[in-house]
This record gives sequence, C-alpha cells and structure tokens, in this order.
Amino acid sequence: MSRPLTAPLSAQPSSATLTTLLAEERTFPAPEAVAQVANLDAAAAEAWRQRGVEDPEGFWAEQAAHLDWETPWNTVLQWSPPTFAEGADVTDPLAELSVPSARWFDGGTLNAAVNCLDRHVAAGHGDRVATHFEGERGDTRTITYADLLAEVSRAANALSALGVEPGDRVVLYLPVIPETLITVLACARIGAVHSLVFGGFSAEALRFRVADTTAKVVVATDGQFRRGRAVPVKAAVDEAVAGLDHVEHVLVVRRTGEEAFAGEPIPWTEGRDVWWHDVVDTADTAHEAVAFPAEHPLFIIYTSGSTGRPKGLLHTTGGYLTHARYAHWAHFDAHPETDVHWCTADLAWVTAHSFAIYGPLLNGVTQVMYEGVPDFPAPGRHFEIIEKYRATTYYTAPTLVRACMTWGDDVPARYDLSSLKLLGSVGEPINPEVWMWFRENVGGGTAPVVDTWWQSETGATVVAPLPGATTLKPGSATRPLPGLDAAVVDDTGAEVQPSQGGWLVVRRPWPGMARTVWGNPERYRDAYWRQFAVQGYYAAGDGARYDADRYLWLLGRLDDVVNVSGHRLSTTEVESALVAHPDVAEAGVVGVGDELTGQAVAAFVIPSRRSVLDDDDAHPALEAALRQQVATVIGPVAKPKHVVVVRDLPKTRSGKIMRRILGDLLEGRAPGDTTSLSDERAVDAVRDGIAARRARTTTSTAAR
Ligand code: ATP
Ligand code: MG
Repeated sequence: MSRPLTAPLSAQPSSATLTTLLAEERTFPAPEAVAQVANLDAAAAEAWRQRGVEDPEGFWAEQAAHLDWETPWNTVLQWSPPTFAEGADVTDPLAELSVPSARWFDGGTLNAAVNCLDRHVAAGHGDRVATHFEGERGDTRTITYADLLAEVSRAANALSALGVEPGDRVVLYLPVIPETLITVLACARIGAVHSLVFGGFSAEALRFRVADTTAKVVVATDGQFRRGRAVPVKAAVDEAVAGLDHVEHVLVVRRTGEEAFAGEPIPWTEGRDVWWHDVVDTADTAHEAVAFPAEHPLFIIYTSGSTGRPKGLLHTTGGYLTHARYAHWAHFDAHPETDVHWCTADLAWVTAHSFAIYGPLLNGVTQVMYEGVPDFPAPGRHFEIIEKYRATTYYTAPTLVRACMTWGDDVPARYDLSSLKLLGSVGEPINPEVWMWFRENVGGGTAPVVDTWWQSETGATVVAPLPGATTLKPGSATRPLPGLDAAVVDDTGAEVQPSQGGWLVVRRPWPGMARTVWGNPERYRDAYWRQFAVQGYYAAGDGARYDADRYLWLLGRLDDVVNVSGHRLSTTEVESALVAHPDVAEAGVVGVGDELTGQAVAAFVIPSRRSVLDDDDAHPALEAALRQQVATVIGPVAKPKHVVVVRDLPKTRSGKIMRRILGDLLEGRAPGDTTSLSDERAVDAVRDGIAARRARTTTSTAAR
C-alpha cells in the first residue's frame, strides 16, 4: 500500500514555535450530494464566517434565538477580561491578576429540559423517537420524545421529593442506560447541577468528585454489565460516600437485578438509600418546569485528567445550550426528520454532554444509545448497531478507529453501512492514515469525516469542518467554526506563519466557555487565562499549526512536546508517522531525558498483529524499521531513540493516551495519579515491555 504522507517540509526550529515536519497533500471537496441539502453550503458558510468576525455578539444572539426563552436577555455578553493590578510586572507568573468573568445573555431566563423536550412535543413531534437504546445483552428500548418527557417529569418530581433544590449538586455514577439521560434532564429541569462520573471509575475517583462537588444525591446502579457479566457497583458507591455527610440520598437503579454478588447481598443503608423503582416509577408524569437565569449552573464536568488532577469545569445554561445546539446543527448538519445520530462517547464524557444529550435533543433528532463495548460479543458490534438502526452519523474517537483497523477491513465489510452520511472524530488528533481508513471502510469512500477539536473547557466545538462546505484534508480539523475566533500564536501572542507550530488560543469569549473551575477560580484563571492575559486570549494548552490554506493541524498538548537538541517536536506527528507503518496499531510518544540531546524521543508501540507482539525475536527488526520510518517521514531528528513494544497503552476512559505515565515508567519513576485510567493493567503492560526490551539489550550487549 502506498503511504503518501511523506513530503518532509523544512521549518525553522525556534524556542517559541514547534518544528513541524509532516505534510499531507490529499484533499476531499464536500460531496455534491451533501452540499446540496446541507444546512450550510460554501456560500452560506463564508457569509456566516464574515458575520462572526464583524458582529460576534449579533451572531451569537441569532443562535441563542433558536432556543425558547421565558424572558428575553438584555445584554448578549458582559465580559471582564483578566486584568493585571496596576504597576504589576506582567512577566511575573505570580503577578496579581483578576479572575476573568463572562456572562452571556444576562437577564434572560429559560429551562434546559423544556428546550430539549417540551417544545418538540408541543410542536407535534412527540411520536418521534428520541432514543433507540441497545443494551449490552441485546435488550432494547425505544423512547419517543413524549415518553422521555414523561420519564424526565417523573424523575424531576422524585428528585424534588428527595429534597434536591435548584443549585444542589447531583452526582451520576451510571452506565450508558436511559436512566442516565433521564436523570441528567431531570436535574436540568429542576435547576440542580449534574456531574457525571464514568461508571467504570474506582470508588476513589468517585469519592473525589462527590466530595469536590459536595453532592446532595448520588445516583447509581445495583451493578453493571461488563462483557456479558454482571459486576457489582453499589458497594463501591458506599465506599465512596462513607463519611461524606452532605450526601443525603443514594438513588439506585436496578440494572442487573442480581440479588447478591459473590454471595454478598447488595449493601443498603436505610433512610439514605432509595430504589429508583420505588420513588421514580411511582412519581407523577406531569411536572411544571420553571425557568432559570441564563447564567444558572447546568453541570460540572471533570476533565479526563491526562495531564494531572482533573479540573471540575462549571458550565451554565443559556450560553452552553446556544453553543451546543449550534455546533451540532452546523458540523453534523442536523436534519431532525431523517437523522439517526450516534455519538459513541460514554455519557460521562463532555463529548456526550454536547453531542449525545444537549445538542441533538435541542435540535430534536433521533439518536442511538448503546450500553456496551465495541468488541463484545465480537468486533463488529458497532457496525451491527449502525445497520440495525440505519444510523446516519457515527461520531467516535480515533482510538476506536485504530482498534477497528486491527480487526481487519472485512469486519465493517460484513455490514450494510450505507445509511451513514457523516463520520465524526474527537478526543485526540486523528492520524491521516486512520482518517483515510475510516472514510474508506466505514464511510463507503464518500462520507465526510468531521474531525472536531474542542475540550471540556470549551463546552462545544471550536474547530471543525462544515460537511457541505469544507474541503477536507485527512488529519486536519480544518478551520474554526463560524463565530469562534481560534488562532495559533507564538509566545508573544502574535499569529504564527504557515507551517510553524504554536499555541492554540481562542481570542474572543464564546457562549459555551466554562465559567470557572468549581470551587477554585484561581485555578481557572491560572490554567487558561494567565499565559495570554495581556492579550485576553484563552490558552487551550494544545499546539497547532496552520498550513498554506490556513487549515489548522493539531499537534498534541504543548506540555508533551519533545525537545531534541532544540527542535521542539510534536508527539502527534511522530505518532502519525508510526501508525502509518503497517505493523503498528497504536503508538504513544514521549520525551525522556538524554545526556546528549537534552531529550530523546521514546516510542511505545502496539503491533497490529498478535504474531509480531508475541514473537520477541521480531522486535529488534520492528524497532529498526520504525526508526527508519520516522526518519523518512519526518526527518532524522525525530527518530525515536527508544522503541518499546507493548501489548497495551495507558489511556483515559475517553481513549487518550496518558503520555506522562509512559515517561514516568521508562525513567523509573512511580507513575503519578492513575485514577483516570480506563484500565490500570495497562501500566503493567508498559512495565513488561520496558523490562523485555532491557533484558534483550543487556543480553545483546553481554554477547558482544
Ligand atoms: P486534562 O485537561 O485533565 O489533562 P483532557 O484535556 O484529556 O484532560 P478533555 O477536555 O476531555 O480532557 O480533552 C480535551 C483535549 O483532547 C484537547 O485539549 C486535545 O488535547 C484533545 N482533543 C480533543 N479533540 C481533539 C481533536 N479533534 N484533535 C486533536 N486533539 C483533540
Ligand atoms: Mg485538557
């Protein structure tokens, strides 16, 4: 197979920018069929972009008007940028700086759940399917908008009866089941603040979030299905909330129906614990919703924690909903009459908040919800679901696409995927070869791949193509959405030249932006606003570059940059070069200390074939081939000094490689906080790979 991603570009290394060397020449114009029916065609997209630049507040006011407001707002935006105290030395990292504050649509009031449900039912769409639920064991449930409204009303009544008041926090520790969606919307309906915690997290990770939010109620299940087995959950919840007096109730959904796990009955604290079927299923299906101010808190979302202790970002109502609705409508080209949208993210991830909950429901589309993992009972489960529900959009993470590639092209080929109109990617940079495979093997060679760049902090998408307007380039998230002012700048805040890497920033406030870090406004200021406080820019922490067409290419996190003899290399580019090799399924790259060059590139690779993984004798040849691959694709400076063959990589639950753990392990340090890991066994997998390589290099040195 030819691998045309290799025309090394020359670029000047400098301390302020990144050396970027990967060039991608393939382009894919918007298909005619998509452009013709798209919400935004090329001309409209250009006009919207212009409007976003010339009158950003007018632009967002128009978007906000797509929601139902009980009271209209009086000001679109009140923005207090971060400001240094008079006479402060702005280069001093401890200089006194005010905490920025954004208020969108002040004076306006609305109810989030009414916007997601009641207004569609009132418009005569109560019979439209809101969610096709597919359980891990193949059980299904079809929930219309009218059904969902009734269920949410019940849950809202039940939560109020449990004492939940507007502003109180409710933590959800649930799998991907209808009750999760229902609880989220019930919280929103009564003005309670929801915070979802991934159901696979440990009791310790849950406890941190319950304590940090001082939650009044925790909603959980008796147990969960995992790869066909029922596993306990409630005992972990008890451990997590022990001694936290602010937790007044634990509301428990009976999901597995098991009476006991390994002989232990489900632990129960009378008075505190209540069954969902006792209090929700018996509640009234009518609920009168009241409107809340635009800046009323809607939810707290913890970042994935790939760089350290997770931050609890607070999102508020009016601005967030405006941004989520707009982004879903624009880059997923929402058509409520025909769409069957599937965002595969766990509901506890921000991706699902905006693109499996609020965005799609605000636009009134039909969705798919699936409880299980993609490869149970067999690889292909996702494709089976796409075929079954005739899904039109499939939005997933690069890590999953890379996994699909190792299962083989024949797996997607077995299913009828012709209903798919659009594919989407989020969570990490999608390597060009992975993008190509996805489009070809899942998208039938025609479906646009919408690569969306955004963060928990940004609320919804900042950079993404518009499928009916944008010419795509594999691996590029293309351009900022109309209305969003993202740019790539150097250390001084000046925009970089094409092909130079720099900091990705957002130069103007936007409605979906997080308002603060829960309970820690100084951390909010210092993490995102201090670096470019003089300019008033939001610093995302990610690196990016422009190409000659001003397309954006994400380069990974700037604190992951590898500095080899003054060349600052992007982990993303080296990883993309590695996964372009047919023997590599996944790659994680990190910088490790080196006497000669300051830092050296260390690459951890999962072979695409089991036979290569298991055959230790094949590893030296693979290492040599990969060094050569990187040297040719990117340049000799990026050649990995260490190549470690591993069977797994440490990832967050949202599929992000936790590179700092790789560095810690290779340099013999204990890995720091690992509570965000989706599978702690990956740490051992890396340790084993490192030990095997050491043993081999020691033996070969001894033999010489
Ligand atoms: P923490 O901030 O605690 O380390 P996190 O950044 O992993 O956690 P999220 O907010 O879930 O938590 O992830 C946002 C990050 O994911 C972005 O900053 C970026 O690094 C990466 N990302 C998301 N989408 C894309 C994309 N399309 N292309 C490249 N990178 C992406
Ligand atoms: Mg982050």
